[in-house]
Amino acid sequence: ERVGVAVVGLGRIAIDEMLPAFQRSKHAKVVALVTGDRDKGLKVARQYNIPESAVLDYKDYDKLAQMPDVKSVYIALPNHLHLEYTVRAARAGKHVLCEKPMANTAAECRQMIDACRKAGRQLMIAYRSQYEALDRTLVKMVREKKLGALKEFNSVNSQNMGDPQHWRLKKALAGGGALPDIGIYCINAARFLSGEEPSEVFGSIWSTPGDARFREVEESCQFVLRFPSGFSATCSTNYSAHKSQMFRLNGFEAWADMDPAYAYHGNKLRITRVVDGKDQTTEIPAGKTNQFTLMIDHFASCIQQNKDVHTPGEEGLQDQRIMDAIYESARSGRVVKLKPPAGKTRGP
Ligand code: NAD
Repeated sequence: ERVGVAVVGLGRIAIDEMLPAFQRSKHAKVVALVTGDRDKGLKVARQYNIPESAVLDYKDYDKLAQMPDVKSVYIALPNHLHLEYTVRAARAGKHVLCEKPMANTAAECRQMIDACRKAGRQLMIAYRSQYEALDRTLVKMVREKKLGALKEFNSVNSQNMGDPQHWRLKKALAGGGALPDIGIYCINAARFLSGEEPSEVFGSIWSTPGDARFREVEESCQFVLRFPSGFSATCSTNYSAHKSQMFRLNGFEAWADMDPAYAYHGNKLRITRVVDGKDQTTEIPAGKTNQFTLMIDHFASCIQQNKDVHTPGEEGLQDQRIMDAIYESARSGRVVKLKPPAGKTRGP
């Protein structure tokens, strides 16, 4: 039987990507919607064959506890609500798939982990890139030493923000600006591709004076993560530049380019190495899989089989610790040392 999911928040990511991906899932099924906009909820419910009685307002969220078909929630709300909606879901006995960034502070991430652990429920963070087939192929190549020892990761994730009133530009709602929203992809990729954790970070932030969009949160952030092996990640994220989503992972013997690297669809992976004295580039075929569906199927099959998820709360907490250190470095102008995470951050 497919795992019943309540989708919480019907914004862009839920409507445009996740609901269609749930429809293609073999292991999960959307059985309830939670939204502040009843008309939108009823329209989406009709589209996906969800009964009208299973369209709830936020104020009725705790009623999920009385809906046994709902085994889990998918939280697609602004970042500052991830904590509250995760904790209440765990109390209602539901497993949680929560959007990134996990929360706005490391302390909030820890509360979410504790609440789910106490309730004996899974908590997974929606790090979709870790379920993207091309990223999986690249991780396998790295582990098989096909690139040689890893030396450098360089990445950009940028886009242009419009409306200054958007929640993403409010510190209390978003936690920060470009860094937690899109810079997080660079941090997470450097970590999961290398399998290492950074021991030092250096960062700097910038906002154009007088730009109404960046009164509360940073416009751009540049940072370096240094890892114990000598591997480094040099990254830039920007909320006021043309969309650009790429990385190059450079090893001793070859490099991998992904451009786009963080797109929902149509990512491209190329490997370049020297063959017969000349650089030779090979494109890895993308296949037809969808990262969102792969992520959902992973989450649901872990629930069905009672197995550990690949991207648990600990993975979200570690990115948050790193972002906290980047902000601290930007404030102080110094390199900030980071202790390793308390335990494993990633499941199988
Ligand atoms: P959005 O603004 O399109 O949707 C947010 C939804 O939350 C809206 O339906 C809004 O009505 C609702 N909402 C409830 N309470 C609110 C409040 N107090 N203030 C504002 N809105 C409120 O945002 P989105 O782009 O769908 O992002 C939602 C979450 O998903 C964020 O955490 C974001 O970081 C994450 N996200 C992840 C990806 C990804 O690729 N994994 C992509 C986009 C967004």
